[in-house]
Amino acid sequence: MIFGFGKKNQEEDLDDEVELVLFQGTLSGVEVDIASHARLAEVGLLRAKEIVTDALERRAEMLRIEPKGEKGAMVQLYVDGIGYSGGRLIGKEGLAVTQVLKLVSGLDPKQRTKPQSGGIRAEFDDRKYILAIDTKPTKEGERLTMQLVDVKNAKYSPTELGFSSESVEKIRELTGEKGIVLAAGPPGTGVTSLAFAILRGIDAYVQATFALCDTGHRELGSVSKFERREEEELGTALQRLIRMEGDVAFVEPFDNEKTVRESFEKHEEITIVSEMKARDAASAVESLGKILKDPKLVAEAVNGVFGQKLIRVLCEKCKQPYRPNPKLIQKVGLPEEVQTLYRPPQPEPGEEIRPCRRCGGSGYLGRAAMIELIELTDDMKKVVAAGGDAAAIKTQARKEKMLTFREEGLKLVAEGRTSLEELQRVFRA
Ligand SMILES: [Zn+2]
Repeated sequence: MIFGFGKKNQEEDLDDEVELVLFQGTLSGVEVDIASHARLAEVGLLRAKEIVTDALERRAEMLRIEPKGEKGAMVQLYVDGIGYSGGRLIGKEGLAVTQVLKLVSGLDPKQRTKPQSGGIRAEFDDRKYILAIDTKPTKEGERLTMQLVDVKNAKYSPTELGFSSESVEKIRELTGEKGIVLAAGPPGTGVTSLAFAILRGIDAYVQATFALCDTGHRELGSVSKFERREEEELGTALQRLIRMEGDVAFVEPFDNEKTVRESFEKHEEITIVSEMKARDAASAVESLGKILKDPKLVAEAVNGVFGQKLIRVLCEKCKQPYRPNPKLIQKVGLPEEVQTLYRPPQPEPGEEIRPCRRCGGSGYLGRAAMIELIELTDDMKKVVAAGGDAAAIKTQARKEKMLTFREEGLKLVAEGRTSLEELQRVFRA
């Protein structure tokens, strides 16, 4: 930059190098009056932009500002699901940055005792981003979580997300029949994304698909939005959609008995896709039986329950082949013909290697989903209808060779898309 020429102080140099993120308005379209919060903007805006810029440069998908009372706040970044420090905010700085981010995403900076959700449209390095923000009061203050979504490169459909062709086919098959198809898993493992991927995996040429619930910042693709009337109950909305000859309904999470019941009542007339918190897919089937106090109905109405685990994929630019011990291949259950596996670059002791520019030196770039599926086949229906628990359901699934995490993970290792170490890490977690 010409204006920087001849000036040697450090701050000017920094200005020359680092272009900061641009905030271009709120997601909700609400106008933000920065002028009337001039003091707050002065204290926190630059720092907030620096933090978000750092997160975008490091490819983070999530950023969290965690208040630590008197000591300020900690910034945590998540890159492909792994947490890294994003630095510390001293004293009141944490509060100022949180407040400013709330302000520019159209939230009320003064409201600090209730959770709020909003977002910012942003641009950085010629790319458009959506920064979806959630705030939540904690004992120490207020926690801010930001999801950073690269608008053009965001992945929503199963193929984009790296699902195996077998899982993509299963999604089509199970959503092609009337009944209930669920995504299930522990909180924080991408259950909502999985449910949405199932929805996006539906054959749009055959099925008319509608979202009856909030889908947040996600790109709907061929899915249509179905406007619920004010305070319209799920059952009534489903009835209206059935009359309109809709084929598939994406409904709110199965987190209460009413939603579950109203969905199950319509299982013969429409395909219903939703999500549910559970330890895994088999446990979800078991707890549906308990919620409805009718395992026979579960056996009759559910087509299948999907679960997912995310695993980092190796960076194609710097991954390195090696020949593993044949005994190890056998021990972990890889096919015998596999002779070469891949892993991140391994420096010799004392050797310094220059970090790969593509992945930043971690050896991994992006993630793929491993899928498990409990399919309600005729034999599985018998197990479920008889009130079988999660263990019995799993045993039956293994017997019928349904998709499992382990099998999907080993496939990724055999194909050289991920490493054995990464697979072990995911299963330990
Ligand atoms: Zn790399």
